[in-house]
Amino acid sequence: VSAGPVADAFAAAYGTAPEGVWQAPGRATLVGEHTDYNQGLAITFAIDRCTLVAARRRADGRVRVRSTAEPGVPPGARLADLAPGRVRGWPAYPLGALWALGRAGAPVPGLDLLVHSTVPVGRGLSSSAALTMAVAAAALDLGGGEADLVAACQQAENAFVGAPTGLMDQLTLARAQPGRALLIDFQSLTVELLPLDVGPLVVVDTGVSHRNDDGTYAERRQACEAAAAVLGVASLRAVATTDALGTLTGTLGRRARHVVTENERVRHAAGLLRATPADRGTLGAVLDASHRSLRDDYEVSWPEADATVDAARDAGAAGARMVGAGGGGCCLALGAPAGAVAGAVRRALGPGPSAFAVAPGGGAGRLA
Ligand code: ADP
Ligand code: MG
Repeated sequence: VSAGPVADAFAAAYGTAPEGVWQAPGRATLVGEHTDYNQGLAITFAIDRCTLVAARRRADGRVRVRSTAEPGVPPGARLADLAPGRVRGWPAYPLGALWALGRAGAPVPGLDLLVHSTVPVGRGLSSSAALTMAVAAAALDLGGGEADLVAACQQAENAFVGAPTGLMDQLTLARAQPGRALLIDFQSLTVELLPLDVGPLVVVDTGVSHRNDDGTYAERRQACEAAAAVLGVASLRAVATTDALGTLTGTLGRRARHVVTENERVRHAAGLLRATPADRGTLGAVLDASHRSLRDDYEVSWPEADATVDAARDAGAAGARMVGAGGGGCCLALGAPAGAVAGAVRRALGPGPSAFAVAPGGGAGRLA
């Protein structure tokens, strides 16, 4: 990635060069969806697309922010006035990051910010965490302070924006390494880096946006808590096999079965990745099984995702699955070239979706 274009855009917007450019990547999930808030397991990786933030300090304690993805010039804000619920629209993400850093005790300077992203927005590839983390990294560096970026960025989304998301995105963006996947344990909050040497990885943007706030996500979380309560365990992580789900029936049983089997699939996939080169055929079957579980037991897939998964397999993929919380967004296909996947998806769904190859990239930080 080059810092030049975003630095030029900053200069055009604010009439002066930025002091630096920071970036944070988007993320994909190899397997492990809806496990984070169940103290479970997931395998993620940072994609080689990122959100760039050019920044310059201001002496007056005010913040201005613009994005090449959004028209218009949002009103400036005083750092001292920031509070949850006060900022509307997309600027709540960058301003929430600054608010959270301030609450964590880091010195936060006034800033002019310009955002440019190559991560599709609102498509389950974590453009929101990329935005908050790139801004937080810029503010920390320019403010000369120290803070836990992962915690601050989670606070920004949960408390300031009001999106009840888990820690998966922030941990991935902060800890990613090129060529590696992250095996995340959400109970111990530990990360193990695994080689991700599996041949082509293709993201298909199905052209359908997802929403965090339509009630589905909150309803699924509640179902998991209810299932754990019935089973008398602190979280579904404590359920080792589906045999232990016997007393749960109906919808609750299916929701819990997804979480328990998804954790099993993550363990299986981690074992496959530890042996390089990984057995791509078996890993593909794990991805397929994850998609079926999300579709049938957790019921968060969407028609374009199901069609994409089928099309990817027609294109020769070893496996494919939806990525993110569901209800819209992207799919990940393993083991077929992007052009072949794009062609098959176009034949199935028309020209709306787009497909692009991704490679496991590094984490957030200063670019220039
Ligand atoms: P995801 O994280 O899956 O992309 P979210 O709904 O969590 O989807 O976050 C998308 C929101 O994040 C957008 O609606 C917008 O408010 C904000 N956002 C992300 N990237 C940008 C960007 N480059 N410019 C402006 N806002 C952005
Ligand atoms: Mg998000």
